[in-house]
Amino acid sequence: FVVSAPSGTGKTTVVEQLVQVVPDLGLSRSYTSRAMREGETHGVDYNFITRERFEKMAREGQFLEWADVFGNYYGTSAADTDAMLARGEDVVLVIDVQGARQVRSRGIETIGIFVLPPSAAVLEQRLRGRSKDSEEQIRRRLEVASAEVDEYSQYEYVVVNDEIEAAVGRLES
Ligand code: 5GP
Repeated sequence: FVVSAPSGTGKTTVVEQLVQVVPDLGLSRSYTSRAMREGETHGVDYNFITRERFEKMAREGQFLEWADVFGNYYGTSAADTDAMLARGEDVVLVIDVQGARQVRSRGIETIGIFVLPPSAAVLEQRLRGRSKDSEEQIRRRLEVASAEVDEYSQYEYVVVNDEIEAAVGRLES
């Protein structure tokens, strides 16, 4: 399953709750070169690695997909997802629209789910509320969000995250 959504939609929270309630469903932990935010843990939220190590992994073809998002690298390890599938788990990738495109173009059978905020205004409120991002960063995220939302039709399902519990229920079904 490929889940994409603009930054600030709350997709990570929703998917983390989803994998708690659906048996044999696992969340793939991405690799990123971005700095850890307060409250994040290495090996839990992401595998935080240096840009150099990321570039080396990319050169070696270790990523199923990877992308540069807001100036940082993010990628899915092919070995990690293969291991999950081999254990009999279904896998959820929470990745941006560029990564989702790569996965589709590899001909991998996936179900795409696009998570939308209830409105552009709510997204802006969430981005301002959660973060220490600068005004400049928030503006950039909002611009990118609007371009990303244009891609929703490439996904099989759209889920609106108006309220977490309800959104988890919709994803579960
Ligand atoms: P954040 O820095 O806010 O955690 O994530 C920023 C963006 O990177 C989000 O849109 C998120 O979905 C995306 N992202 C996270 N992990 C991956 C990944 O492994 N691959 C790709 N392509 N995007 C990712």
